[in-house]
Amino acid sequence: MQQSSTNYHIAILGAGIAGLTLLLDGLKQNIWENKSILLLGESLNNTPNKRISFWSTATDPIPDFPYLKWDKLSVVSNDGVSIPLKLDDYSYYSFDASAYRKHALKEIKKYENVTVVEGKVQHILQDDKSCEVRSDEGVFFAEYVFQTIFEEPTLKPHNQYFLQHFTGWKIRTEHRFSDPEEAVIMDYRTSQEHGTSFIYGLPASDNEIFVEYTIFSKSLISREEYAEKLALYLREVCHVKDYEITEEEYGVIPMTDYHFKRRDGRVFFLGSAGGDTRGSTGYTYTNVKRTISQILEAFKRKTWPQVTLPSRRKEQFYDAILLHVLAQGGYPGHMLFTDLFNKARASHVFQFLDAQSDFTNDLRIMWSLRKWPFILGMLRTLRLMVFKR
Ligand SMILES: Cc1cc2nc3c(=O)[nH]c(=O)nc-3n(C[C@H](O)[C@H](O)[C@H](O)COP(=O)(O)OP(=O)(O)OC[C@H]3O[C@@H](n4cnc5c(N)ncnc54)[C@H](O)[C@@H]3O)c2cc1C
Repeated sequence: MQQSSTNYHIAILGAGIAGLTLLLDGLKQNIWENKSILLLGESLNNTPNKRISFWSTATDPIPDFPYLKWDKLSVVSNDGVSIPLKLDDYSYYSFDASAYRKHALKEIKKYENVTVVEGKVQHILQDDKSCEVRSDEGVFFAEYVFQTIFEEPTLKPHNQYFLQHFTGWKIRTEHRFSDPEEAVIMDYRTSQEHGTSFIYGLPASDNEIFVEYTIFSKSLISREEYAEKLALYLREVCHVKDYEITEEEYGVIPMTDYHFKRRDGRVFFLGSAGGDTRGSTGYTYTNVKRTISQILEAFKRKTWPQVTLPSRRKEQFYDAILLHVLAQGGYPGHMLFTDLFNKARASHVFQFLDAQSDFTNDLRIMWSLRKWPFILGMLRTLRLMVFKR
């Protein structure tokens, strides 16, 4: 074990999407050239496959890094009706998180003020002057810590906690899908026996596609069952029988209205650990990028540790209502999301989900859905928030 008592200005804990993006963006913008920085994360060279997808209006949302992009999107209802989405100036993007990590670590190593340590964080202590990070690679001290390691929250009685769990395959096949330029972000032609479930299909080339079987529910299913559902979908719905699986990913993302702490003294929580995962969808990347740009802005303006982050209260309240509606089961998720994309413009839905929505747009989105389940869901949310805190 390497015993260390080095002092750093900044320690970033966890070398996943949030930690690496914060560090790389900070370095590229020359914001931290005079700071000594520690990046401490486990399994640096052994990352499970993970694709990160998101919508954006930016022309080049991840500079200097390859990504896939689609300008045509659709949602397919449980009874097979395809709904083309009205995207306006949005596109859908996807990149390979393991490749991003390799790229980011290679870039980061060019900066002499950064020390990268592969190790497991065990504990963080702090006083009013610094933080002490204990790990299996020694003890490190830093003025400020960015903590991106997710910890299972201790829920309050009023909290909902769903899991978004999925298995995805990248397959190679000679079969021509109807439109290789179009990504299907939700295809509900799956059995809804375990909860809201759908397949998404992201074509990667003329003969390659990512297909992912996703469920929103409170418990997981066996790994074999995801594979059965994917194979069934390819066979019965897409009529694809011959294919080779070239990549596989498995994941579980929490969908909750739990209020994650953003900071504790000198420790700032970021990524899923800081509540950047949207409770109603599991999408995280756009929020992570937004939080990072606010942090870097505070360093640029020399106001750090004061950082202005928009309040998340309104979105958390909406997410809580949606999770209660799903939990009650009166308005099944596949109908709810189909109604949403059928009746509202996708660009308005994306603004709403990105917390970039004004009250008029919020109303427009709510109007596209059945009213009674949401009124009941709201009353239930309010009652639990008031009486079961
Ligand atoms: C398979 C999968 C697919 C996803 N797809 C999408 C998507 O398409 N779009 C989207 O917006 N979101 C997606 N998400 C959700 C979210 O964007 C990702 O989980 C994203 O990686 C979150 O970034 P993060 O930095 O917060 O966490 P992570 O990327 O998980 O980073 C945390 C890091 O901390 C490390 N770590 C954990 N414990 C320790 C420890 N004790 N000591 C040191 N290091 C430790 C982990 O190894 C990891 O590298 C997906 C999640 C999963 C699991």
